[in-house]
Amino acid sequence: MGLSHLQSFKRKVRNKAVGNYKTCITIKIVGDIVEKPKFYVLPQLPYGYKDLEPYISEEQLRIHHAKHHQAYVNGANAILQKLDNARKENMDLDVKSTLKELSFNIGGHLLHSLFWDNLAPPGKGEEKPVGDLGNAVEKEFVSFERFRKEFTQAALSVEGSGWAALTLCKQTGRPIIMQIEKHNMNVYPMFKILMVLDVFEHAYYIDYKNERAKFVEAFWKIVNWNEVNKRLEEAVK
Ligand code: MN
Repeated sequence: MGLSHLQSFKRKVRNKAVGNYKTCITIKIVGDIVEKPKFYVLPQLPYGYKDLEPYISEEQLRIHHAKHHQAYVNGANAILQKLDNARKENMDLDVKSTLKELSFNIGGHLLHSLFWDNLAPPGKGEEKPVGDLGNAVEKEFVSFERFRKEFTQAALSVEGSGWAALTLCKQTGRPIIMQIEKHNMNVYPMFKILMVLDVFEHAYYIDYKNERAKFVEAFWKIVNWNEVNKRLEEAVK
C-alpha cells in the first residue's frame, strides 16, 4: 500500500520539522520543479541586432535569432504539449519519432542560447582566451593557434548542418572539441559546453552565401572570451 502524493508530502514536511536532512532536500527539489515555467522561452540577445556587424549583418542576426532559434523553442514546446496531452488522455504516440524530434529541438534551443552569449561585438571581447581558459587551451593544444586551427577544421568538416563546440571533460580535466551533427548527434554526455559555433547554413547564408569558411573566419573576431572563461570557472567549481 503506497502513500498518496499528498500524504507523502505531508509526512516529509513533518520529518523536516524534526530535522531530517535528506527529506529537506527532497522538499526543496519538489518546490523547484513546481516553480519552473515548464516551457522554453526565446532568450534576449546580450547585444543589439546590428552590434556584430560587419561580421554578422543585422538582417542575418535578426532572422537567425527571431526566426530560426524561435522555431526550435516553438518546436520543443509543441512536443512537450503533445506529450502532456497524450498522457492526460492516455493516448498512444510514436515515442521513437517524438523523442527524436524533441532532442533535435531542445538541442537547437540550448545550443543557440550558448552561442549568443559566447559572441561579443567586435572590439568588445579579448583577442584570445583569457585567464584559466588561456592556460587550459595552451596546456591541451600546445598553443592558441593550434587550438584555433583544430576548432576551425571541426567547424568546416561538420557533415551537413551542425556545430563545433569546445567542451570540458571533468574526469580528465581536458578541454575537448566536440563536433555536433544537427543539434544532437555525437554529443559527449556530461561534458560542459564552453563555446559553440553554429555552422548550419542558416547562420551565414545571407552574409556569406554558401561560404562556410568565410563565416568561420569571421567568428574568431567576435568571440566573447571572458564569457567562455567564466563557463570554465563555473564548470570546475
Ligand atoms: Mn542556428
